[in-house]
Amino acid sequence: MVKNIYLDNAATTPVDPEVLKAMEPYYKEKFANPSGIYSFAQEIKRDIENAREKMAKFLNAEPSEIVFTSSGTESDNTAIKGIAFANQDKGKHIITSKIEHHAVLNTCKYLEQMGFSVTYLSVDRYGLVDPTDFKKAIRKDTVLASIMYANNEIGTIEPIKELAKIAKEHNIYFHTDAVQAAGKIALNVKELGVDLLSISAHKFYGPKGVGLLYIKKGTKIHSLLHGGHHEKNRRAGTENVAGIIGMAKAAEISMEFYKNPENILKIKKLRDMLERGILEKIPEVVVNGHPEKRMENILNICIKYIEGESILIHLDFEGICASSGSACTSGSLEPSHVLLALGLPHEIAHGSIRFSFGKFNTEDDVKEVLDVLPGIVEKLRNMSPFWKEKVKGVKNG
Ligand SMILES: *Cc1c(COP(=O)(O)O)cnc(C)c1O
Repeated sequence: MVKNIYLDNAATTPVDPEVLKAMEPYYKEKFANPSGIYSFAQEIKRDIENAREKMAKFLNAEPSEIVFTSSGTESDNTAIKGIAFANQDKGKHIITSKIEHHAVLNTCKYLEQMGFSVTYLSVDRYGLVDPTDFKKAIRKDTVLASIMYANNEIGTIEPIKELAKIAKEHNIYFHTDAVQAAGKIALNVKELGVDLLSISAHKFYGPKGVGLLYIKKGTKIHSLLHGGHHEKNRRAGTENVAGIIGMAKAAEISMEFYKNPENILKIKKLRDMLERGILEKIPEVVVNGHPEKRMENILNICIKYIEGESILIHLDFEGICASSGSACTSGSLEPSHVLLALGLPHEIAHGSIRFSFGKFNTEDDVKEVLDVLPGIVEKLRNMSPFWKEKVKGVKNG
């Protein structure tokens, strides 16, 4: 296999070797079903409860408030459908934002088909939800608000604490999709004041196919999966034991990692070096997302007059992995719903690329991109009628 320069860490991260090591026994000798009555099974059960304690510590929650799921997507679905269905007698209105992940947006769309009504809040040009808008959107029949912690395409960090406080004052459940933030920023559910919070292991060097939903004690919620008595009747199905153990190990490692600001700074430096380099070398580039309130690992840009997809294909020829924003929109011709919500016109939104960094990236990765990207852009622009139009316009004054 050719060596890739991997700059798509917001889509997924490689499994940390330590995580894999922690998981291995559960695919081998520690294979018992944790629901078993014999001590062999009870030992595995204890390991899961140990992992639950670690995840509770990771979020400053109680172990009983942690429900293991199969993914960030399942956690989002459970939070939103679970609250909506369990609290229908109080009202059928939900508030979310236009820039949520599809796991939230399409769940809300489904609920609209089921007779619920949803308000999709607009954001400003940096992707921020305005708490005043949120307050105004609250109705008598509002039961739930779901606003993401950090956006996966542009990295903008939402004012969750403020929004959750407003929700609490109006007696509304508040869920946040913290999938992009988990493992990079210390998350404290008590300080944030949220009722529900989703995370996914594969975004912070854990395995794919495992996540969790924090559900605050006393929250009235239905489950999505019915079956056995797993997860205290909140999520049926034999536990993904290795996955859960892996997620707990990944959480432990990431806490050590972000405890040291130097580590975060190193990632931010690489991101900023790429941003500066691109702006220096390539004209007509827009940087998306909030200048400060942004995840330090995400750079989303629009290169005007050409298509993001074409750039990505050319980067791929050079072994560089990047994305047009969201893994879920690739293959579709529609520009990203997030960039459109920022107010960018279609033709600019089409030229978007997201570079997302992780702990395994180096300065050489950035240099390589800066070496090849200007040439790719020049080549594509020379074939673009819009670019020719623009150059002609400039010449003619
Ligand atoms: C990746 C992601 C998800 C989905 O998580 P999966 O575990 O891949 O299903 C949800 N929300 C956000 C913000 C994400 O980045």
